[in-house]
Amino acid sequence: MRIDIITVVPELLESPLAHSIVGRARDKGLVEIYIHNPRKYGKGPRLQVDDYCYGGDAGMVLMVEPIFNMISELASQREYDEVIYMSPDGEILNQGIANELSLKENIIILCGHYKGIDHRIREHLVTREISVGDYVLSGGEIPAAVVVDSLVRLIPGALTDETSALSDSFQDNLLSPPVYTRPASFNGWDVPQVLLSGDHKKIQAWQDEQALARTALLRPELLKK
Ligand code: SAH
Repeated sequence: MRIDIITVVPELLESPLAHSIVGRARDKGLVEIYIHNPRKYGKGPRLQVDDYCYGGDAGMVLMVEPIFNMISELASQREYDEVIYMSPDGEILNQGIANELSLKENIIILCGHYKGIDHRIREHLVTREISVGDYVLSGGEIPAAVVVDSLVRLIPGALTDETSALSDSFQDNLLSPPVYTRPASFNGWDVPQVLLSGDHKKIQAWQDEQALARTALLRPELLKK
């Protein structure tokens, strides 16, 4: 899988995508991630990428041409399954969307900044718009990192134990059961006895029961799906 991210603030993305599971997936060659700054197609001596909003509203808008040129450069080199724009008015990211995107071959993720991007990009080049929730952030970079992380961990081999992504919350519309590690007793707080029993059938039954109980308590609407 290959992910190309377009942003005017690449520094915001470098560290979140360089460590932990995403960093290791890149090192193992499971995913290629490239960050592109459309400023190289900026206008004038200062390589301008934003301009005042038509209509007189306060705030700057990313201009159509640098982004058009950046997307055209990438699209001339390979075919993309999706050009995703991170946007607070897009469809809200969930595990189903992450599962679906993890099966794609090449995707572009476009990050807005300031007041957003010239709407013509969204009308003519963007194929999908994704939000990370009903609140507004300063740029699409942190949302893009959220999308990339959510789908890279689903690529086979990204997690050491492939089944562990399947037991995460929201797969099967269930929350995850509680997890514990050594020591079995700390400060008088004990790990549930069944987990120490070595009886895998019993442990599985306990985990299933906990997942169901926690979902019913914390997110009952998931059980109705
Ligand atoms: N004026 C816009 C918000 C611009 S915020 C509006 O009211 O809809 C600047 C950029 O941050 C956006 O272009 C988008 O790329 C990103 N962004 C902000 N909040 C986001 C969210 N909840 N999900 C995804 N992207 C978001």
